[in-house]
Amino acid sequence: MNERDSEIMAGQLREMGYRPVTDEKAANLVIVNTCAVRGSAEEHALGYIGQLKQLKDQNPSLKLAVAGCMSQEPGTIAWLRKYASHVDLVFGTHNLHELPQLLDQVEERDEMVVDVWKTAGDVVEHLPSQRADGVKAFVNIIYGCDKFCTYCIVPFTRGKERSREIPAVVDEVEALAREGYQDITVLGQNVNSYGHDLNPQVDLADLLGKLEHIDGVRWLRYTTSHPRDFSQKLINVIAGSKKITHHVHLPVQSGSNPILKRMNRKYTREQYLDLIERVKDSIPDRVLTTDIIVGFPGETEEDFEQTMDLIRTVKYDAAFTFIYSPREKTPAARWEGRDPVPNPVKKERLNRLMDLQYRISLMANQELVGHTELVLVEGLSKKNPNVWAGRTHTNKVVLLDRDPHIDLIDRFVPVRITAAKTFYLAGEVIGAPVSDPSPRRRIELPLM
Ligand code: SAH
Ligand code: SF4
Repeated sequence: MNERDSEIMAGQLREMGYRPVTDEKAANLVIVNTCAVRGSAEEHALGYIGQLKQLKDQNPSLKLAVAGCMSQEPGTIAWLRKYASHVDLVFGTHNLHELPQLLDQVEERDEMVVDVWKTAGDVVEHLPSQRADGVKAFVNIIYGCDKFCTYCIVPFTRGKERSREIPAVVDEVEALAREGYQDITVLGQNVNSYGHDLNPQVDLADLLGKLEHIDGVRWLRYTTSHPRDFSQKLINVIAGSKKITHHVHLPVQSGSNPILKRMNRKYTREQYLDLIERVKDSIPDRVLTTDIIVGFPGETEEDFEQTMDLIRTVKYDAAFTFIYSPREKTPAARWEGRDPVPNPVKKERLNRLMDLQYRISLMANQELVGHTELVLVEGLSKKNPNVWAGRTHTNKVVLLDRDPHIDLIDRFVPVRITAAKTFYLAGEVIGAPVSDPSPRRRIELPLM
């Protein structure tokens, strides 16, 4: 969602006449779009903002701005005023549509311009956007989050849930399809809450049902899902759809009931496992992934073993694993003060968890060797320009030997999987592309 915000900022800047540069030394304006979800992301951003002072010293006409979730935290603004007076502008997640006016204020004033809205206004439609990727496109459908998981800062930085109207989403996806985008992901902190605040009420299944009929869209993805709101209706719609992909990301966070309760996740281990069973039954070729936090305050060895056991039971294809990070204003941050899991224990548990998950991921990938998959080729491998990188509908990365005489980027090709690693597959193209090349010009935009 942060990257999608960057695309909207880039779109507004393009309309103002700005052009992207690949080297920040050549820039007139640098915007640091921050993430606040974990302490490590914040430290990274603050370090980078500090480094920019040198750039500003070399080029005094350079304008520096800080945006995103960290700007929504009062502590950040105090820090910037004290340690980063070289920053010209601070704005937040709720007023990024005001970027042009804010930049005008920067030109007019000498001191740091700080404009952060505490609460979200109405959804703003028709903002320009400069998409970073030429193959996949992301479309916001709901902003904010009302769940208040006790470890999470997102409800504070992104505000309450606000859904976009179905026609607005349909218009955007139709426009993307006309431009040639075939792989669309609808976005929200909790897409399963989509539509509860609209009149009449609708849900994600209704929206996906509409998007599915748009010509040109071949794959439809959605992220992120909250297990509590992942309805049987949605499972049925996914199972019966030719376009909604069979990658199901269902963040579990912990396998222990006492921890889930204190996380305020509002489901039990048993309810979660029942949901997984229903997904597995209805969508036989699904790929399941998850998010897990280790070292939540008060997590005992027994709680952690419950998480390990859940991973062995579900056998996820992949998992994003995080060490618990205390976040300002959240209830769990207070508990961390009283009952923290010691750092070495947190690290050791994370290592055990990753070890187990990596073995399961590798086994899941090995099962695909010899199978044929449809792969959307996304570009050249970052590490090796002689290799194409693409994805299956289940979001698995597939590397393919590149034939320099043809361009397969942005095309769907049949591929035989020849080898499996923990994080990716290798394959060979075994037939002609099954889709036409996109009519649009590829866009190269550096987003940092
Ligand atoms: N709305 C999504 C994503 C939220 S952030 C969801 O509910 O799944 C992405 C992931 O970051 C979360 O799923 C969680 O695993 C992790 N996360 C969030 N806050 C965290 C914290 N304070 N410490 C460690 N991990 C955290
Ligand atoms: Fe954070 Fe929970 Fe909302 Fe996800 S559902 S954004 S983890 S509060």
